Amino acid sequence: MCRHLGWLGAPVSVSSLVLDPPQGLRVQSYAPRRQKHGLMNADGWGVGFFADSVGDATPRRWRSPAPLWGDASFESVAPVLRSRCVVAAVRSATVGMPLEASATAPFTDGQWLLSHNGVVDRKVLPLSPTAESVCDSALLAAAVFSRGMDALGDTIVEVGAADPRARLNILVANGSRLVATAWGDTLSILRRVDGVVLASEPYDDDPDWEDIPDRHLVEVTADGIVLTALNRSKGS
Ligand code: GLN
Repeated sequence: MCRHLGWLGAPVSVSSLVLDPPQGLRVQSYAPRRQKHGLMNADGWGVGFFADSVGDATPRRWRSPAPLWGDASFESVAPVLRSRCVVAAVRSATVGMPLEASATAPFTDGQWLLSHNGVVDRKVLPLSPTAESVCDSALLAAAVFSRGMDALGDTIVEVGAADPRARLNILVANGSRLVATAWGDTLSILRRVDGVVLASEPYDDDPDWEDIPDRHLVEVTADGIVLTALNRSKGS
């Protein structure tokens, strides 16, 4: 399982979220604390963000198929990349999936950034000419993008029903909404005075981190935080 992190709040540096915390994604790339599947996340990394400049709604991405811990160029630039909205991930590739930057989260449709922490049988997903890779996560991202974010919960429930062994922790953001699902793996939230972090696991030992219960969706906007249970089927 990969590890991912999302931020929505005041402008902060990417390094303050990803590289600097004592148990942040850089450390999680070789020593995650709560990872249930896989020992480390050395198969690449990706950072997506919305630039902190007026009128730029384009998601910007930096992805690599190499381990995050050794990337000196990113380490050099990350302190001056500032954003109100970030989606970052380190990857532990599922057996059989391609090892390439295009298979590394976050994926995008030009509006949203999406990371998937988990695994899903590709046979239950529609073939998509817009998927960035044949990786299961890229196909899942394409399916989520085509259904739309207001249907994210329904999409996860349906894919989960089609593949009961799937783990479907999703993290998406578009600059003003940050949404995550917990479906088969860990997810934590930290409410800071300057914003909200959603992450596969806490990046430090702050006692304010809270666990999101499994099979739930959490949405963060300027209006607040909403937690919703994901039911197996509508009305159940
Ligand atoms: N299945 C995805 C991949 O192969 C994600 C893997 C993960 O969460 N470890 O990249």
